[in-house]
Amino acid sequence: MIKTEKILHLKSSRGRKVRVVREHYLREKVPCYSALCQADCDNDGKVLPADLTHYVVPDVGVVVDYLEILEFRELQGIVFTQTACQAVQHNKGRRQYNRVRNLLKDPRHDCVLFANEFQEYSYCEREKGESQERWQTRCVYSAAVWYHDHLAGMMDVLMITEDQDAIARYSSLHSGVYVISVQDFLQNFWPDLQAAHDLYGSISQALQEKESESSQKEFSEHLPAEVLEAGIKSGRYIKGTLNVSKHRAQNEASIMTEGLSDKNKDLSWGVFIFGVKHRNRAVHGDSVVVELLPKSEWRGRVTALSEGQGEERSGEEDESKPMPTGRVVGILQRNWRDYVVTFPPRDGTQSQSRNSQRILVVPWDHRVPKIRISTQQADTLQDHRVVVRIDSWESTSLYPNGHSVRVLGRAGELETEIQTILIENCIHVPPFSDAQLREMPVNSPEKPWVMDPVQVAQRRDLRETHLVFSIDPRGCEDVDDTLSVRSIAGGKRLELGVHIADVTHFVSEGSLTDLEARTRATTYYLADRRYDMLPAILSADLCSLLGGVDRYAMSVLWELDAESLAVTKVWYGRTVIRSSYQLYYELAQALLNGEPAEVPELEKLKSEEKDAKLAELTQALEMLTHVARHLRAQRDRGGALELEGVEVRAQLDDEKNITALVPRQPLEVHETVAECMIYANHWVARKIQETFPHQALLRCHPQPREEFFSQLVESASAGGFTIDTRTNKALADSLDLAVDPQDPLVNRLLRMMATTAMSEALYFSTGLLSQDQFYHYGLALDRYTHFTSPIRRYADIVVHRLLTAAIAMDTEADPAKSLLGHKELDETAQHINSKNRAAKRAQKLSTELFQCLFFKERDPQTDPHCVADAVIYAIRDNGLLVFVPEYGVKAPVYLKNREGQVVSAGEDGGCEWQSGTVRRSSDHISTTSVSGTSTFRLFDHITVRISVRSTNFHSDTLNLEIISNKPHSSPAPEEPRPQGRSQLVQEVVRLAEEASQQERVKEARRPKLSKEEREYQQSKTPNLYSLLEEVRELALMDLEMPKRGCATTA
Ligand SMILES: [Zn+2]
Repeated sequence: MIKTEKILHLKSSRGRKVRVVREHYLREKVPCYSALCQADCDNDGKVLPADLTHYVVPDVGVVVDYLEILEFRELQGIVFTQTACQAVQHNKGRRQYNRVRNLLKDPRHDCVLFANEFQEYSYCEREKGESQERWQTRCVYSAAVWYHDHLAGMMDVLMITEDQDAIARYSSLHSGVYVISVQDFLQNFWPDLQAAHDLYGSISQALQEKESESSQKEFSEHLPAEVLEAGIKSGRYIKGTLNVSKHRAQNEASIMTEGLSDKNKDLSWGVFIFGVKHRNRAVHGDSVVVELLPKSEWRGRVTALSEGQGEERSGEEDESKPMPTGRVVGILQRNWRDYVVTFPPRDGTQSQSRNSQRILVVPWDHRVPKIRISTQQADTLQDHRVVVRIDSWESTSLYPNGHSVRVLGRAGELETEIQTILIENCIHVPPFSDAQLREMPVNSPEKPWVMDPVQVAQRRDLRETHLVFSIDPRGCEDVDDTLSVRSIAGGKRLELGVHIADVTHFVSEGSLTDLEARTRATTYYLADRRYDMLPAILSADLCSLLGGVDRYAMSVLWELDAESLAVTKVWYGRTVIRSSYQLYYELAQALLNGEPAEVPELEKLKSEEKDAKLAELTQALEMLTHVARHLRAQRDRGGALELEGVEVRAQLDDEKNITALVPRQPLEVHETVAECMIYANHWVARKIQETFPHQALLRCHPQPREEFFSQLVESASAGGFTIDTRTNKALADSLDLAVDPQDPLVNRLLRMMATTAMSEALYFSTGLLSQDQFYHYGLALDRYTHFTSPIRRYADIVVHRLLTAAIAMDTEADPAKSLLGHKELDETAQHINSKNRAAKRAQKLSTELFQCLFFKERDPQTDPHCVADAVIYAIRDNGLLVFVPEYGVKAPVYLKNREGQVVSAGEDGGCEWQSGTVRRSSDHISTTSVSGTSTFRLFDHITVRISVRSTNFHSDTLNLEIISNKPHSSPAPEEPRPQGRSQLVQEVVRLAEEASQQERVKEARRPKLSKEEREYQQSKTPNLYSLLEEVRELALMDLEMPKRGCATTA
């Protein structure tokens, strides 16, 4: 080892330059991380492949300024030098440095770190008078030469740099080592990677423009980090996350403080930031430091119903009472992400100056300020949506500077809008990479997949002994759960089985597929499509528990007393199954109802055999229903809630045109399947929590905050009902009683409000909470987790691994498997929680997108679809919030407009605008004009006209206008409405609903039901489980379309 001195010029946090001399040790052996290594390097971990045409060594400037290009997964064989990484850390800060580190860690990126400054032969000492930049470039070049020599000339090495002098100096110095510009590199080696070319253009343009900034200050400077730290410690400053108001993004923002409420009660609702100046260049989501303003400058929020998004209504607003108000003095961490923006139309006023190509683009998210970018494509891109990144926001600039990353397409087109929704929610779902697909098993006609005899020998084989079947939405491809039920011990006991796809058999921990699945965390279901968490070979084939084929499963089998249904024994383990029937909900329900139904699996059988099989299947379904009713009743006694969510699915034709928006159809069999899944999840939660008290992944649903129920309680009392929210049992019972026999919608609305008041259910590591916090409020269970959908939820994969380890603990003395520590497990849990939130938001946005598309093509003045019945569910100062059951839409209806006119209803109910006044009380709102007083009460039905409000820069929104204060009745038969497909579908749904209603009545009369069954045989629609699972957590749509999002309620 050789000792030398290294002289560094660092910038201190105050901005001063400091000269530091460090002892520096050089070694002969520094790992090269190349598969071509001839020198026995200690290459532990990721290794660059041998079968490339060249390795790439980017210069310091390239890593600092063009890291985004190096992040393309397509690029291979990249060597990051220590010199370049250190430069990033010093010039760009921690965030950018972490990005480099993440790239180096991520096995999906083909790049390694070379510690060139520790390598005896690649290290260069800095020469006297040599500039830092020139020396760094020399170091990188020397590293490139070292690689070429170290690999005995078997691999060409490309150094890429933006330094023209370096190209001139080094390009022909050493054969096999080439020095070229980034642009030449992309053109020669990646001519088809257009996205990288575009990104290069936009970054280099932004860099050029950066030099010509003005110097006039628009904002005050941010304070240095040590001043901020000291101020936070002394209590002078407050730190928190900036949250910009969605509806009043121009002026209102607040700081969500962390753990401050104990110190200062005033701050428990956060610190208010009014105006752009006081926001001082902080962007929504940034972690900031604020200073409180003197009390005389405190302000209140505006509380009136706000016109959609961003638009300010002046004059008539009511302000809440003043709250602690502050200003941003510094930023701890930027939380910038990729933003979708829209290029404005070029009307001449837009460009700041004639000779510049700088343009202000408008982010889709109202909360993000306009961004200035440099481009030569401003004309071609007008009205297009583009992804941009913010580079900086200087105190001399009114707007942040950024650069464009890629073009999504014209605003308003379906694909553009869907991509926008994904990017705005940080959902990244690229096609699965080749390297990842190489990990996958093969199943093709030439090479059919077969079970491994070794595996079969280790598993319990249920193929001959158990009648296994699945019940899913029609056309489902990813079947992750199957069921079995049989009578054993001479009829004394029942055996219930839940058999789940054994995904972890195929996805080993730490594999590329595992990493990608973890990153995605869930399958994403949008209104018209889905993005799978796992490649199709697993999700739709080898893991999918399809009918008639052998599959690996993870099973839970319960032995229940045939009379009391008490559990006498539980068995967990890996199995082999062959599902006999792949049923869909409507078919299963028809069999249960004794209606004639064709089971596809039995089609070809002779009638005698067919009847026998059909009887066997029907008996199993009945037994299952019997058990599920019992389980449900048990949970009901514990206080399980049954809530209501709006769920509508878009019916699409082959060209993806929407033909109808259809409410979901509830069947009892949904609930039966759901109940069995809840049971399995609960028992698996018990098992893993008991075995690993500190590191099990569970799911809790915290008790809601009492104050969130105020709207529910108030609205209910307006309808003459009392809602008791003290416990889940009390809430469930009082919701059951809050029924208006004249109007079933009232109960539905109240349940909807209860849903809104709930906290969200969350994954957590048992090591971090005390056991009384494990409770699942909605399901009324002391422990709960997710086990039943490993194909489309990563949490279930983690739980399967935990369960496997727990089973091993029972049988083996020393289970080899090491589990995630509780901290890592908690990180995983937080990551999945945040991705689930994103998935939910994306699904909601896509549903709204389709709702808007449905109405956009229609003329609201003439098309009868645009007129609908609506129910008032809340009263505001200047209008109403209503629910349109036909379309599942919730939206505001204004009773007062900007001109000061109010809605006035005539004798026939018809509404028109007249000048007048509005008066509001808790359960009604009245308008008074020359033609008299009109009153609108909670739960009144009114008629609204639905139209679309388009802004181009943001998403479209629905606009509801009251046209009558009477319920909407369809026109009389003599003037029939045009019978579009949508009415037909709705008619079908309605008839089916009536039919199943009648069936239930009939069923209730059947004598063979026990008392308990009669009591609880209900299909309260849709049950809590489907609610929590589908609406609150991740609303999953079972579209009856081939290749569409199919999801069970599991
Ligand atoms: Zn080596």
